[in-house]
Amino acid sequence: MFSNKLNLDDFMLGLAKRNPHEPEFYQAVYEVAQSVIPYINHHPEYIDARILERMTEPDRIISFRVCWEDDEGHIRVNRGYRVQFNNAIGPYKGGLRFTSHLTLDTLKFLGFEQTFKNSLTTLPLGAAKGGSDFNPKGKSDREVMRFCQSFMSELHKHIGVYTDIPAGDIGVGGREISYLFGQYKRLENQFQGVLTGKGLEYGGSLIRKEATGFGTTYFMEEILKEHGSSLEGKKCVISGSGNVALYTAEKVMQLGGHVLAMSDSSGTIHIPDGISREQLDWLIDLKENRRGRIQEFAEHFQCEFLPDTKVWGIPCQIAFACATQNELEKSDAQQLIKNGCIAVAEGANMPSTLEAVHLFKKNNILFAPAKAANAGGVAVSGLEMTQNSMRLSWSMEELEDRLKTIMQKIHSQCIKYGRGEGETIDYVRGANIAGFKKVADAMLAYGV
Ligand code: GLU
Repeated sequence: MFSNKLNLDDFMLGLAKRNPHEPEFYQAVYEVAQSVIPYINHHPEYIDARILERMTEPDRIISFRVCWEDDEGHIRVNRGYRVQFNNAIGPYKGGLRFTSHLTLDTLKFLGFEQTFKNSLTTLPLGAAKGGSDFNPKGKSDREVMRFCQSFMSELHKHIGVYTDIPAGDIGVGGREISYLFGQYKRLENQFQGVLTGKGLEYGGSLIRKEATGFGTTYFMEEILKEHGSSLEGKKCVISGSGNVALYTAEKVMQLGGHVLAMSDSSGTIHIPDGISREQLDWLIDLKENRRGRIQEFAEHFQCEFLPDTKVWGIPCQIAFACATQNELEKSDAQQLIKNGCIAVAEGANMPSTLEAVHLFKKNNILFAPAKAANAGGVAVSGLEMTQNSMRLSWSMEELEDRLKTIMQKIHSQCIKYGRGEGETIDYVRGANIAGFKKVADAMLAYGV
């Protein structure tokens, strides 16, 4: 039919015009477009059906008012969102993020990334993301409860087990999911697996909490194995100390690596001999139950604390970026490379800037992009949905086995589509093309 080749600059110009002032969404699309446009240009059916244009436009964006009452009796108003991005290969699936200053730009980038990530899991999962500019930090349990109930009072109209299944993300953990699930159940009078990350007593899955961090580490172990190495004895740094970072640390240690540094937004803790199992347990308790700052760890164990400093300056062989988007910038990448780092994995969503990724590639650093490396979380959410449908629950061993197999399959897909000339594997290209192909083929099959 038409088959005019796609041009990256023209495509991005069109995207910027349709989505002005959305730098994170632009960045996420640019990273994908760079690798999939050359592939699309060899497949005219994708060009004629304008698949990439369609995949960069969310199916729908829902925005709503969330009113709640604080402990002093004042009425507060926040904004809630659900961006239902793409349901070509399964019901919408993706987390909810509660942080101050959350914008639609961030949610569009996250929903877009989720499309590729969920496709890579090999499970039938479409893509969505949502959240609110409400920040649970510093709020009482009752305030969080009232907020979640109000949020769900609107969200419940748009979700369902065959429609859209939200989960947690930054600022949304077990406590928030429980309040949200309780309200859904109240409003709909139905006990359904409509959220994942639920408590074990009411349909949750074992290892869901650990899944993203475990998956990121398994993926890194696969990459190292492919290159004749392993995590055993490796010096590692991990940014963040949320759910992803904590369980990355746990699995790294189980596989024989040493975790020299972790962080939160206030600074970095440095433990030259590596965190011990007891110290990690203490940190997990601090972060999950006491909601404390990482500085308290340094005070308690008398270790070095570097205020307002990121982990990237601590010499290491492997780096895990597990905090938030764009936390690893060009100068951080330069430091890592200078200090002898050989591999970087993204446990968070888009934690490296485009410049940092470019530097890693130029310097032959093994680089595991987020879509592949952090897909373990949503993959175990998919397994939670399966268990809910069966009205059964799998054992820890069964789930760990399945998670490991999924991460190995993601690695194989990256190799299939990312192997370049010679032996080099471009994991970014591999993940993008493999993730793209499945969704694009489904969209083609449906017609316009
Ligand atoms: N928020 C996680 C992610 O970014 C998990 C989403 C889910 O389990 O649905 O993939």
